[in-house]
Amino acid sequence: MTSLFVSDLHLSTGRPETTDLFLRFLAGPAGEADALYILGDLFDYWAGDDDIADPFNARICTALTDLAGTGTRMYFLPGNRDFLIGGEFGVASRLTFIDEPTVVDIAGTPTLLLHGDTLCTDDADYQAFRATVRAPAWRREFLALPLTERKAMIEALRSRSETEKRIKAYDLMDTNSEAVAEAFRRHGVSRMIHGHTHRQARHDHIVDNRSCERWVLGDWGTSGNALAVDAAGCRWLQIAA
Ligand code: MN
Repeated sequence: MTSLFVSDLHLSTGRPETTDLFLRFLAGPAGEADALYILGDLFDYWAGDDDIADPFNARICTALTDLAGTGTRMYFLPGNRDFLIGGEFGVASRLTFIDEPTVVDIAGTPTLLLHGDTLCTDDADYQAFRATVRAPAWRREFLALPLTERKAMIEALRSRSETEKRIKAYDLMDTNSEAVAEAFRRHGVSRMIHGHTHRQARHDHIVDNRSCERWVLGDWGTSGNALAVDAAGCRWLQIAA
C-alpha cells in the first residue's frame, strides 16, 4: 500500500512544462500508487466550477479521471489558490474531497493532512484575508458574479499578492513553531504532511516529549516532487522532466 502526496503544482496555461510534468506523473508513478493525495494549490487559481469546460481545466479533469480508471484513489483538499474548487470539479475528476485539517490512517500511521497556510500565523494580514474569503457568505456572493468578472478580480488579487510576497520577510511567510506544536497536540498525531510554503523538507519536532515528524511538500516547476508513504515510512520522489 503506497500513498503519494503532492501539493502546490500551481497549474496554469502559463506554465506548460509543469502541466506536461504533472500529466506524465499521473500516467506513470501515480498509476502505480494505491492513493494520491493532492494537498491544495493544484491550480494557480480557480474561479469556480463553471470554468470546468475551459479547455485547460478540462484537460486536467480528464487526466485525473483516467488515473481514477487505473484504480488509484484520489483525495483532494483545497489550498489558498484553489479554495473555490467545489463538488462539480470532484465529480468531473473522480476525486474525493477531504476536510482540512484531517487525520487519516496512512499505512498504519495516523497522519495529519492540511494545506499548511493555517500554520503561518505570523502573517496576520494573510490570516485576516483568509478568514474573509473562506466565509460561506463571501464564497456564495463571489461565485454569483459573472465568470469573467471573477477572473479579473482574481488576477488583480494575484498581482497584489506577488508584490506583497516580495516585500514580506521570509520568516513571516513560514510556519509558526507554536502553531505547528499546537496542531500535533490537538490532533494527537506524530506525523504531519502539508505544503503551501514551497519549502520542501522533513522537520523533526519534540512536542510534549513526543517525537514528531513534519513533511513539507515542495512546489512544482520545471521539476516536481511527491512524498511516497508506505508501512516502511516516507521517502521523496523527484519527478524529473
Ligand atoms: Mn498555498
